[in-house]
Amino acid sequence: MAQETLSFQAEVKQLLQLMIHSLYSNKEIFLRELISNASDAADKLRFEAIAKSELFEDDPNLRIRVSFDKAARTVTVDDNGIGMSRDETIAHLGTIARSGTKEFFAQLSGDQQKDAALIGQFGVGFYSGFIVADKITVETRRAGLPAAEGVRWVSAGEGDFTVEAIERKARGTTITLHLREGEDELLSGYRLRSIIRKYSDHVALPILMKKEEWDSEKGELVEKEEDETVNQASALWTRPKSEITEEQYKQFYQHISHDHEDPLSWTHNRVEGRSEYIQLLYVPKRAPFDLWSRERHGGLKLYVKRVFIMDDAEQLLPSYLRFIKGVVDSSDLPLNVSREILQESRDVKAIRDGVTKRVLSMLEELANAESDEDKAKYAAFWKEFGQVLKEGLGEDFANRERIAKLARFATTHTDTPEQTVSLADYVARMKPEQTKIYYVSADSWQAAKNSPHLEVFRKKGIEVLLLSDRVDEWALAYFTEFDGKPLASVARGDLDLAAFDDEEKKAHEAMNETMKPLVEKMKDVLKDKAKDVRLTFRLTDSPSCLVADEGEMSGYLQRMLKAAGQ
Ligand code: ADP
Ligand code: MG
Repeated sequence: MAQETLSFQAEVKQLLQLMIHSLYSNKEIFLRELISNASDAADKLRFEAIAKSELFEDDPNLRIRVSFDKAARTVTVDDNGIGMSRDETIAHLGTIARSGTKEFFAQLSGDQQKDAALIGQFGVGFYSGFIVADKITVETRRAGLPAAEGVRWVSAGEGDFTVEAIERKARGTTITLHLREGEDELLSGYRLRSIIRKYSDHVALPILMKKEEWDSEKGELVEKEEDETVNQASALWTRPKSEITEEQYKQFYQHISHDHEDPLSWTHNRVEGRSEYIQLLYVPKRAPFDLWSRERHGGLKLYVKRVFIMDDAEQLLPSYLRFIKGVVDSSDLPLNVSREILQESRDVKAIRDGVTKRVLSMLEELANAESDEDKAKYAAFWKEFGQVLKEGLGEDFANRERIAKLARFATTHTDTPEQTVSLADYVARMKPEQTKIYYVSADSWQAAKNSPHLEVFRKKGIEVLLLSDRVDEWALAYFTEFDGKPLASVARGDLDLAAFDDEEKKAHEAMNETMKPLVEKMKDVLKDKAKDVRLTFRLTDSPSCLVADEGEMSGYLQRMLKAAGQ
């Protein structure tokens, strides 16, 4: 087929503009992105070759090669991975198919700094090459297709790109960046090596460059014919912890998460016994912009004996931990495992339980830490992900107690909207006569805090949890006691607070007698509107309030269900 000129999808044009301007100060990341794609391409080939070993052709040793040409002013990244067909090239290098794309574009503000942070989170990918190049040439052939079905893709990163068929013997992809004016510092073996070691050392494939040697006659470095491997070339998670630096853990996190920030915390260990696997799990610093999006999947990559199997293996994590990123490498699962098999596998269940426990331990460590730094980390974690973790109260029966201990609340004790009080703190402050943990729920902290139900509690100095997150009511339907103390809504039934004060109790009884005729009369008047009318001692300023019966839905939940069309 002849050369064809095609237009980028509108979002790609927008992304290109944004990226070139906002990421220029961090332009060397383009190499990390291209190497990361080459490494993904090798993973995909290995995976497809499990069922079809002929895809390796006569070139079974997967590697990435980085080179440069001073005269032509180009930098090239070459891989012998899966490659792309013509259709794939057009689809993958002309559009953005990633999940969350819609949310990403909806959140762009036009403020360069904010957008730069967002774009970092979104992941810049292939297009980041245009930060340093004013033209990119991609030549590729998909594994299994004949040499005549090679493809050349060329673009200047503006509105369009061209594709044409070429003869290409080599399987895989060669990406050549034609550097912009002023980017010549990249035409240096030393510079490229140091970028590779900084960002891509953890890549499991060898990244090769030509050896260089000092030629004292010429007074410069000259390239030799021999190759050398620039990175460590072993999967990071398989290395002993003692041999991995903090920086390498952080770089690996950025590689798997598309996040340009450091992680908040991580845990790495090898599990042995009935089920054998390695887990490397990270808690991000910030919630992704699509944490609440329906199409969003989990963040764990599944490997089986070092072979990449799939992204987003949601079976490996309960949904209330969907913000966790990382890698699980199983020694037990079959290589040809599918999502369907995952659903039923006992090994997967064991991994899921193990991963869950490990994440909870990591969070407990932060939550219970002595140092101010770790305390601040936990507070930051709760702010970003607390609402998601609370789903676990309703979802994960086996770990409910542990999740409850991790939960933090706004209460009448602190009287600020920040959720900082643990249930243990609350229990420690309970009155000697107090047997229940009290809460009020409303659709905002303001509304909860100003609830008339609280008046008597404030007067008696009893702390009340102020619940206003959407998940709270739902979680509380399952989470009914903590440390042997039932949770009780201040808006429900007889509160029996008089027990807090005997004198008061007697006074109340006397008052009940006196007021009986009036109450009877009101019951009669309201008989179609209210199930019952009771004298109350809970209010101090308001004359009356509505209460739900014990076991009845609260007003808030009723309104929520109504709003959801139930
Ligand atoms: P991402 O890696 O997050 O999918 P990128 O923008 O980095 O996004 O790449 C877009 C897509 O282009 C990849 O998903 C892949 O399908 C394709 N691609 C890019 N580079 C290569 C490569 N070296 N070999 C094969 N496919 C590639
Ligand atoms: Mg990529």
